[in-house]
Amino acid sequence: MIIIVGNKHFTHHRGRTEEKITCPSCGHSLNFVLNTVSSWFTMVFIPIFPYRFKRRVECPFCRTCLRVDKEKYNALLKTRKRDRIRKI
Ligand SMILES: [Zn+2]
Repeated sequence: MIIIVGNKHFTHHRGRTEEKITCPSCGHSLNFVLNTVSSWFTMVFIPIFPYRFKRRVECPFCRTCLRVDKEKYNALLKTRKRDRIRKI
């Protein structure tokens, strides 16, 4: 009997930062995207449980990701701009 185990990563977009951040890679000063990346243990390609969470801000221009600590990320979440859904 063969049991297939592995991991899978899910990225959740949580909005944009209220303050503009200067990207160290491209130099643009923009509202970065707040992301949470969760890593899940999988069995037979089915996610079973999460084992790690990473908090990142991503440059919307060049997609460079910066890791931030939990306190800084939570402070950014409180003041974030929510992405607006465009009505057609
Ligand atoms: Zn950039």
